[in-house]
Amino acid sequence: MNSSSSTVRPAAPVGERPGVGLRDIPLPPYVTAEDAQFAVRAVVVHAPRSWSGGTVCRNDASPHPCRLHRWGTRVLALRGLRDADIAALIERGDPAAALPPRPPA
Ligand SMILES: [Zn+2]
Repeated sequence: MNSSSSTVRPAAPVGERPGVGLRDIPLPPYVTAEDAQFAVRAVVVHAPRSWSGGTVCRNDASPHPCRLHRWGTRVLALRGLRDADIAALIERGDPAAALPPRPPA
């Protein structure tokens, strides 16, 4: 129960804190616009980068896909994006890119 961080966690699952743990970041039960936008940033900032010996995360040099990239991909998939849409976002490299409209449920 004793948190080593005194930072107050926001309500949104802001996952940009490396070293918190090795488990996957939990997905939000319902993907809000903020979650989706954060996920765009996660996949763009944590894009793959070719490195000698393999593909690593451009941001934290973990083997790609890193936790945050996986989280972002899964949130965007929940949001209704297809793999190709997500790949296009990464290709574009714009962390503030607008998402396509939410598909009807
Ligand atoms: Zn990463």
